[in-house]
Amino acid sequence: MRLVFASNNAHKLEEVRAILGKQTQIFSLREVAFEEEIDETGETLEENSLLKAQTVWKYLFQQTNIGNAQAIDGVFADDTGLEIQALGGKPGVHTARWAADEGFYPNGETQTSGNNRALALHSLQGLTNRNAQFRTVVTYIQSNGRMQQLEGIVKGSIAKEEKGIGGFGYDPIFIPEGYDKTFAELPAELKNSISHRARAMKALSEWLI
Ligand code: IMP
Repeated sequence: MRLVFASNNAHKLEEVRAILGKQTQIFSLREVAFEEEIDETGETLEENSLLKAQTVWKYLFQQTNIGNAQAIDGVFADDTGLEIQALGGKPGVHTARWAADEGFYPNGETQTSGNNRALALHSLQGLTNRNAQFRTVVTYIQSNGRMQQLEGIVKGSIAKEEKGIGGFGYDPIFIPEGYDKTFAELPAELKNSISHRARAMKALSEWLI
């Protein structure tokens, strides 16, 4: 199969190719000359994931016909959120820009990830329920327009302080269930085998068979 992944993020592409690569050839947006910015205006992970997949599907099969010319079978997009139980599932769809949306800048305005992590720690101060999960929603749209959504979840908890230097985003404060170390302390191969994204991609790969 030949699929387009609605991303140019090298880290994600590598992860996705490792999981889906045996049965499929994965093209990035750059490789199909897609250059638009997609505004993630949805109010849920499902909406944003769908919005990205639909925009690229229209570009491939309606606007340019590149998808048909290159015999592309379908396109998929992902959207991820951190859902903290004691905060009613926040930051959820706002995960990437949570601290900026709340105007919380203890590390300066440019330190997006550090501020996001600081806000999570700050919001949970004094609370015993630190349960959280990462959830990834993948939307796949076949060349004929048929759509399917799948999800991947990794449950865990928010640490009391930052630990570890690996990974990115919230990794230094997220302890996956069954472990006593954060994602940033665990080996990348381990994280990539149990992560929300890996699980969503495995669900997609099983659905595609
Ligand atoms: P995206 O939808 O994959 O771009 O993810 C949205 C946001 O969730 C990112 O900007 C990160 O802050 C966070 N995030 C996603 N995946 C991970 C992960 O594997 N570890 C830590 N943070 C993540």
